[in-house]
Amino acid sequence: MVLKRLDRLWFSPPAAAVRGATAGAADLLAPSWCVGCRSPGTDLCPDCRDDLRLLTQHPYRAEGPAEALPILEDLSVLPVLSAAEYTTLVADAVLTFKDHQRVGLTRVLASALERAVRSAATLCSSEQVLLVWPPSPPRSQLRRGRHPLGELIQQLRLPAQVMPAGHWVRHRITVTDVVRPGRGQKSRSKRARRQTQNRFSLVPGADQVLRGAEVMLVDDVLTTGATLGRLYQCLCQAGAHVSAAAVLAATAR
Ligand SMILES: [Zn+2]
Repeated sequence: MVLKRLDRLWFSPPAAAVRGATAGAADLLAPSWCVGCRSPGTDLCPDCRDDLRLLTQHPYRAEGPAEALPILEDLSVLPVLSAAEYTTLVADAVLTFKDHQRVGLTRVLASALERAVRSAATLCSSEQVLLVWPPSPPRSQLRRGRHPLGELIQQLRLPAQVMPAGHWVRHRITVTDVVRPGRGQKSRSKRARRQTQNRFSLVPGADQVLRGAEVMLVDDVLTTGATLGRLYQCLCQAGAHVSAAAVLAATAR
């Protein structure tokens, strides 16, 4: 009984908020070292900052190796502009930023993402383009107490025609989040298995906003493109036209 109560307390929204704030404060107070060269006293030393800027200077078309990206009506793959390849210093900086609240990395990573968004905007044609990103999965939101991608997007100086619209998509709690121990994929009902296929759904009222709207997707790291694919599917069902995507980094295969 006591355990149950403790469990409920631990998972309650106020407790999650306190954990997030405590983790954030601990990160801010902990001695920092450069993510690139490990020199102490800074999240990113001037030399590594210059290197990171250089590595993310020229966004490139990254959709080639991502086999799970959606196919558009004209049978082309959804174009994705990436600020950099997900290797070396870029990968270390992105990972460190996601797992620890290293404020010294926010500005330089936001600038990189901004360059990718601006490049992707050149592929859009409407006077108003909605910018949509995947919501944080409940588990990682609980673990981190924050949404790193959302923090970067807040820092973006967007082109005039691009409007943030990420709040229209939410994370659906699926059977994989609440699956009972000992019950595998095989024993689940057909409906339950279908539900695991798309983790995203729209908040009430989103249909009216998205119908006929041009949308650009944004995410932190592109690997197979499965996340962008699910987001695309969810938005297309609402009648949106997704023209392009922008990411901070893309894995090379
Ligand atoms: Zn350094």
